Amino acid sequence: MSLYRDLGVVLRTYKLGEADRIVVLLTAGHGKVRAVAKGVRRAKSRLGGRLEPLSHLQLLMYEGRELDIVSQAEVVEPWRALHEDLACLAGGMAMAEAAEQVAQEGEASGPLYRMLVGALRAMAHRPGPLVVAGFYWKLLCLDGAAPVLHQCASCGAGPPAARLVAFDIAEGGALCQGCRRGQPISPAALELLRMVVGGQLGRALELPASHTTNEVAALATISMERHLERRLRSLRTLERA
Ligand SMILES: [Zn+2]
Repeated sequence: MSLYRDLGVVLRTYKLGEADRIVVLLTAGHGKVRAVAKGVRRAKSRLGGRLEPLSHLQLLMYEGRELDIVSQAEVVEPWRALHEDLACLAGGMAMAEAAEQVAQEGEASGPLYRMLVGALRAMAHRPGPLVVAGFYWKLLCLDGAAPVLHQCASCGAGPPAARLVAFDIAEGGALCQGCRRGQPISPAALELLRMVVGGQLGRALELPASHTTNEVAALATISMERHLERRLRSLRTLERA
């Protein structure tokens, strides 16, 4: 069995047998990895205490035939707020869940790993109203679903001739009056969304909570869910073929 080192974030864990745990990790170099952590549910396991969801770890792993094995894990950044503040924990888990669904096993995903680490760090240190939403929008862009925001995603008409009044990720983004479908979107939310996906996420994360941040956050959740549903459906179709 070969050994490897990698950095990773714990996305989820579940029980295996009497004392073991399966750990689902998003790693910097090996993509999504499902690994066994042996004996970690025993009271004295030091390794077990480190393999909590959302932990950011330096890992030493054995490559297995089916599942890899976690040999050692050291905490890279102790994100205390993520484990002590319920709202931060819930936000972090929501991001980890979306990352798990987008990441593929056996496929390196450095950008996704770096995005998740950045978002969890933001959640732990300065949890603004757009941390989860910002991550969702960036994840949609990374997964090939960057929204069209400057013209109608359906007919191509744009301001000033046509106002963009609705949003549907399944249609590709913003929609004009004639093509409206999905959710209504206010001009302010459209502007903020352009900021988030247009390279100014840092600035957007500094904004205090408002109607507009609420609207962009709600739209992010709806869009992420719709995107993942479509994605899961197409994966199932592929598996049947
Ligand atoms: Zn249109």
